[in-house]
Amino acid sequence: MKNNLSIIKKSKYFLDKNECIGIPTETVYGLAANAYSDFATAKIFKLKRRPKKNPLIVHYASLQMLKKDCKINSNFLKLFKKFCPGPITLILKLKKNSKISKNVTNNKKTLAVRFPKKDITIKLLRSINYPLAAPSANISTKISPITKGDVKEEFGKKIKFILDGGRSEIGLESTIVSLINKPKILRLGGIEISKIKKTLGSKIEYSPKDKNIASPGQGKVHYSPGIRIRLNIKIPKKDEAFILIKKRKNYGKNYFYLTKNENLKEAAKNLYKTLRMIKKKNFKSIAVEKIPDKSFGQAINDRLNRASKFQ
Ligand code: AMP
Ligand code: MG
Repeated sequence: MKNNLSIIKKSKYFLDKNECIGIPTETVYGLAANAYSDFATAKIFKLKRRPKKNPLIVHYASLQMLKKDCKINSNFLKLFKKFCPGPITLILKLKKNSKISKNVTNNKKTLAVRFPKKDITIKLLRSINYPLAAPSANISTKISPITKGDVKEEFGKKIKFILDGGRSEIGLESTIVSLINKPKILRLGGIEISKIKKTLGSKIEYSPKDKNIASPGQGKVHYSPGIRIRLNIKIPKKDEAFILIKKRKNYGKNYFYLTKNENLKEAAKNLYKTLRMIKKKNFKSIAVEKIPDKSFGQAINDRLNRASKFQ
């Protein structure tokens, strides 16, 4: 407990000085900075080598703080009450007098907001008087980190501090829902479409192609371990890593199970961890068994499809 207090204090110290730090969330680790500061948020883009046109998600601990920056609506309140804090990002209209840095929104009039669930991160957010802009703590196009060690691997000494909150429980990015006009899913993630639909009580479109914004992770290659990936494979090549979701009778040293009984939530949780492990073992190619395109399988397939664009 005392220990937690001192690492929260340390995090606050660096954030107040406009530094970027690693923070844990239940989805993936973030690279966080004061969302009101042009100087601090510019550092995020530089460290991640992220295109400026790709806006950042801003993290809050209270509705009161959020209301300073955004206009809320009834769909927002429905989703907020049901899923927050949790793995969902909501796009809202920015208020005219909001202090959010223009770097965060790429000068747009909308803002992506999220209420992360990790206790230690909520405590940190409560200890500061600004929200945190925090994209995933990886170099652009690479695999998202789910432990402190993963963040260290990405940025080494380039960042001053990483707040350790243990492993990210969800292990996959948040679901992004735009609430600007008709609710629209922009990215699949930690909450299934069916649950969001049920809560809103209306049909919801999944439309990742937003002409106005390079969202979400619309760069052709994304979530990539930097290794060639082949999808829907029954039998892998001899020297290929093989990612599976169903237990097989035979055993191969190159077999990597995301789950052994097609539990797609468990598979999502293990995806990035497994890709990192395969990379460390120096495999030159990855084969993935067919993953059902339902529930969390949709989000997994989304990430794998983008990762497979790496040649
Ligand atoms: P990450 O870099 O993993 O944090 O992903 C954040 C995603 O949220 C990116 O793909 C952004 O393009 C998307 N995003 C952030 N702000 C907005 C916004 N105002 N409208 C639509 N998408 C957004
Ligand atoms: Mg990312």
